Amino acid sequence: MMAPTPFASAEPRIDPVEGNRLSVENPATGEILATLPLDGSDAVDRAVQAARIAFEQGDWRRKSPDERATVLRRAADAIEREADTLSRTLVAETGLPLTQVAHLHIPRTAANFRFFADNNLVPDGTTHLVPGRHLSLVTREPVGVVGLIAPWNAPTVLASIKLSSALILGNSVVVKPSEHAPLAVARLVAILHESGVPEGALHCVHGPGQPTGQAVVAHPDVAAISFIGGTGTGRAILAAAAPGLKKVGLELGGKNASIVLADCDIDKAIANHMITMFAGNAEQCLSASRILVEDAVADRFLNALAQQTKALVVGDPMDPNTEVGPLAFAAHWDRAEHFAEQARTGAGYRVLAEATLPADGGSGFYFAPMMVEADGNDRSLCQEEIFAPIVMVQRVRDLADAIARANDSDYGLAAYLWTRDIDAVARARRDLRVGTLWVNTVMARDLRAPFGGFKSSGLGRDGLAGLLDLFTEEKTTMLAEPAF
Ligand code: NDP
Repeated sequence: MMAPTPFASAEPRIDPVEGNRLSVENPATGEILATLPLDGSDAVDRAVQAARIAFEQGDWRRKSPDERATVLRRAADAIEREADTLSRTLVAETGLPLTQVAHLHIPRTAANFRFFADNNLVPDGTTHLVPGRHLSLVTREPVGVVGLIAPWNAPTVLASIKLSSALILGNSVVVKPSEHAPLAVARLVAILHESGVPEGALHCVHGPGQPTGQAVVAHPDVAAISFIGGTGTGRAILAAAAPGLKKVGLELGGKNASIVLADCDIDKAIANHMITMFAGNAEQCLSASRILVEDAVADRFLNALAQQTKALVVGDPMDPNTEVGPLAFAAHWDRAEHFAEQARTGAGYRVLAEATLPADGGSGFYFAPMMVEADGNDRSLCQEEIFAPIVMVQRVRDLADAIARANDSDYGLAAYLWTRDIDAVARARRDLRVGTLWVNTVMARDLRAPFGGFKSSGLGRDGLAGLLDLFTEEKTTMLAEPAF
């Protein structure tokens, strides 16, 4: 049976009618942190129209790439100056542990702005000459008004990649953060304005997927959509964008396998699994959520991992000792508890470890991280994206068995491999149907490299080339060559 929701008696927080307000709640305490105007379709229309006019008539797109880069660098400096306040805002609205936010999320947010300032995406044109006939000149130009729709799990890191790449290319942007975590992203947008992005070229709208996100996606003057979120939502967005033939980039869910082979450095693998399984409260698309461990080392590996899972410090996300904070909001907590109950009572599951909930958790959405062994990969907990700290474990015979189970998934975002065997690496690289494979390392991102998913994990890629394709249009100009 599903456990009761800590805020079960609360009124629905959102009534999607223009003029209403959106409440932002602290998942650790239930405190309302802020209320914001809820932007319905009229407000979204005003934002998109202003962005279109700025694109057609304003000077952001006409600035040189160097001038735009200077603005992004200024914003990065401001983020670093405000790091403490931004960190606390992000922790309060998401429940992510402060240590991770302060050391990872906010520094990376600033670094993302610097990255796109320094690795100028604005490309040189190319030419093709047919002597005596014509010269074709291929150039790129900004696509126009871009709609960015961001999730709540790593709001500033993810929004900053899209904001900085869309803006450096000269686009106008309308960004809709998640209703659950809009405050830090709203502050990023204000910082960008203060740093020199014209008001008209960048807008932040607030509200839930329906009606606010939907209004951004369906607006006829939005030329491209960049979406990060769940696979079901991604499908709805693709369908809504289809009539307008918009460009769409989708970064969606994952059920990432981590393959642990007997020859690997086990101690290093254990330490890194504690990061990739539980960092960011395990509310991360790139978490390792399915561990596939070779029989020969399974007992040693799983026993050590189970001990460390039991010892995880779950608690107040502002406390520097906390390793796992509360889940982000009520419905998400309900869903995770539902899966936990299945793991405890369902056939084919064995709970190997469960951490302890904080004694003074009050009405926060605290959830005890779990490791659960499953009899087979067809168990629903091995197939569904849980997006919370329930890590599924299976014992495998060998690499071939592991690859077959890793690929037996609707998702194909990423995988991890732990081995010293170069042939195993080559085989996994060839056979795993995923967009990113981490070998003996966890979660490293290089913004120059593509990042995105096979199968139901996405469409298109982040990274320099993918973002350039999404946020620009190519144009060919044919110049007549004088006949000799
Ligand atoms: P959702 O899909 O629920 O929401 C993502 C964003 O889309 C939110 O801003 C949401 O608004 C908005 N939205 C919801 N419905 C619509 C709609 N019909 N039209 C337009 N916008 C809409 O995902 P979550 O926020 O729950 O994020 C978790 C998911 O994101 C996981 O599946 C995770 O794997 C994935 N993700 C993928 C990443 C990747 O790089 N592949 C990175 C991070 C997360 P609101 O929340 O306000 O309702």
